[in-house]
Amino acid sequence: MKYCVTGCNIRGEAVEANNGYLCNNCYSNLRWALQNAPEALQHLREVYVMRPALELNGSKPIKRDPPAPFNLDAWQIAEEMWQALTGKYIPLEWNYMRVYSEAFDLCQHIHQHLEDLVNRKEVIYLMPLVKLTRLAQYRYPVAEKPRPTLLPCPECNQRTIYQPPAEFGGTLEVKCQACGFTIPPEKMEFYAHLAERERDAHL
Ligand SMILES: [Zn+2]
Ligand SMILES: [Zn+2]
Repeated sequence: MKYCVTGCNIRGEAVEANNGYLCNNCYSNLRWALQNAPEALQHLREVYVMRPALELNGSKPIKRDPPAPFNLDAWQIAEEMWQALTGKYIPLEWNYMRVYSEAFDLCQHIHQHLEDLVNRKEVIYLMPLVKLTRLAQYRYPVAEKPRPTLLPCPECNQRTIYQPPAEFGGTLEVKCQACGFTIPPEKMEFYAHLAERERDAHL
C-alpha cells in the first residue's frame, strides 16, 4: 500500500494514496485550488498591491491601477502561490489582468494533465497551493468588507480604514476612523510610499 505523499493521516493512521501519490482528499483539494487560484491571485494583486497598470499587449501605461496601500502580506501570499505553481517569482511588469490570464492558462493546463502529475512525486511541490489559496480567500475575500490598513492617517496618525469600491472599477476609499480625513485618491500613492519608507526605516 502506498501512502499519501503529503503525509496525511487520520487519527495517526497514514492515509492511502488512491490517486497516484495523493489520497482522495488531497486530490480533490488540489483540483479545487487549481480552479480557484487564478481569481485569488488576481484579487490579491488588483486590490491590495499598488502597481502601474500596463496594457496586456505592451508596456504602455494607460492608467494607474486603483491605488491601494501596499500590502506586504497580500504580496507574499501571491508570490508563494506563484512559486508553488512555477517555482518562480511573478514578473514585476505583470499587472493583475496579466497575472490572472497567465494563472488561468497555467492552472487549466495543470488540471488537464493532473492524472500524469499525480503519478509523479513532484506533485508535492504543488500542494502548498491548497493552503495558500485557502489563506488568500480567508484573509482577502473577494466580496470585501471594510478593513483597517497599514497606512496611518496623514492628519492624525491614527489607523485608516479601507473601504472597498462599491462596484468593479469604482474608487477605493481610505478613511481615518478618528478624524474622518479621507485620503484623496490622487494622493494615495504618495502616502503609501511614505508609509512604506517609514516602515522600512524602522525594520
Ligand atoms: Zn493526502
Ligand atoms: Zn485622522
